[in-house]
Amino acid sequence: MFDYSPAPEAKLASFASSYGHFIGGKFTKPQKTFETINPATEEVLSQISHGSAKDVDLAVKAARNAYEKTWSKLSGAQRGKYLFRIARIMQERARELAVAETLNNGKPIKETRDFDVPTSVAWFFYYAGWADKLDYAGMGASPKAHGVAGQVIPWNFPLMMLAWKVAPALAAGNTVVLKPAETTPLTALLFAEICQQAELPDGVVNIVTGFGDTGAAVVGHKDVNKVAFTGSTEVGKIIARQVAGTNKKVTLELGGKAANIVFDDAPIDQAIEGVVNGIFFNQGHVCCAGSRLLVQESIHDEFIKKLKRRMETLRLGDPMDKNTDVGAINSKAQLQKIKGLVAKGVKEGGDLWQPACKIPRNGFWYAPAIIDGVSPANTVAREEIFGPVLSVITFRTPTEAITKANNTEYGLSAGIWTEKGSKMLKLADQLNAGVIWSNTFNQFDPTSPFGGFKESGYGREGGRAGLAAYLKGGN
Ligand code: NAP
Ligand code: MG
Repeated sequence: MFDYSPAPEAKLASFASSYGHFIGGKFTKPQKTFETINPATEEVLSQISHGSAKDVDLAVKAARNAYEKTWSKLSGAQRGKYLFRIARIMQERARELAVAETLNNGKPIKETRDFDVPTSVAWFFYYAGWADKLDYAGMGASPKAHGVAGQVIPWNFPLMMLAWKVAPALAAGNTVVLKPAETTPLTALLFAEICQQAELPDGVVNIVTGFGDTGAAVVGHKDVNKVAFTGSTEVGKIIARQVAGTNKKVTLELGGKAANIVFDDAPIDQAIEGVVNGIFFNQGHVCCAGSRLLVQESIHDEFIKKLKRRMETLRLGDPMDKNTDVGAINSKAQLQKIKGLVAKGVKEGGDLWQPACKIPRNGFWYAPAIIDGVSPANTVAREEIFGPVLSVITFRTPTEAITKANNTEYGLSAGIWTEKGSKMLKLADQLNAGVIWSNTFNQFDPTSPFGGFKESGYGREGGRAGLAAYLKGGN
């Protein structure tokens, strides 16, 4: 392996030493601040304000005011122009956004540069195109927005989750109060600057940073009409209880424990790449990650041998290095959670293997791992690890594959690897998952709805369905 010089891109993003909230088009004075760090180095990047219920109230008031006085008065075409403008500015600032995301999240720059930022931009372009076509969205003539949307997002795809929530909300005519995750607020704050640069009317987008209590204040505010949440099933359930009996519309995008099913007739080398991408992309911090490999027993040994050989070539280290495949784990707490679950899985009979790799001295790291010989009752077959850990389960027949794949509380995604179209279609029909990929994995497109069943939540993001969630009569 080669050594590389430090990446020059690190200088492309700069942060203020501290940030307030973005309310009514302006940044407030920083207050009750906490540190936000680079999880790859533990360096402090900036000081962030912990939003109180009062801050949330000011943000909701600003959003309500903007909704009533400006945003709901604009034509769809005018709203669309702002969204197109935001998308173009994001493109202009793409490198800066990619660097900022990598610094604050720990994910490799090749992912932020080639996936997170372009996908976020694509979401804005796509929904910008819908803004003047709501009459043709299949929800009756002149469908109306809900009003103020309260949105709470996680740390695994900070900018992309913002785009998935803000773009359809604004296109449909809502205004927004968004709370980014505690550990990854920086790209949302850069996005606030982009809203200013785009001269988006004040109060249409408001961003309040903070912790879980800040999120709870957004969700619980009596003047929020629509709640959109992505995160853990645990918090999703709290939110569902909190809004029960109110008039609020809710969409919940929660966890997953996807089966990536490989049959003996699959193109093996291609499947290896898909399995690696399915679980090691974004350090496995992906709700739809292919975290359970279901491999047909007849090819198990050959497949695992090849998979291990491929895993030995994954480069773990500096996320700013464009050759890095596996970046840092987003937080110390998440690292501890991963370690705890893996230890449990091994205790319950799993066989852990990790390639030898040098772990940087500072920051939070976990070498890519597979746990073979996992029984369906093992904790690592059931619980979402949200890390670079693949649980391996075998099956003999398609029926057994379906039974094992569906044997989970979750129902977000699944993958099927086979050369036979008939088998693929039959399986897709019987798998309880919102998104099913075949001979590929982790593909996202703004035109395509995304979301789950069971404990993976309800509602869809993306496509016309994602627009409907922000319109009266749509969801
Ligand atoms: P989380 O606690 O569900 O956090 C998601 C967002 O909700 C964050 O902005 C969080 O704020 C906020 N929040 C926390 N408690 C809240 C409450 N009572 N009311 C309203 N908002 C609240 O998830 P996490 O702590 O980041 O991660 C925990 C686990 O969730 C992970 O290990 C993983 O299994 C799962 N997860 C799933 C997804 C997904 O895409 N489905 C994404 C992330 C995590 P704070 O950031 O301040 O906690
Ligand atoms: Mg949390």
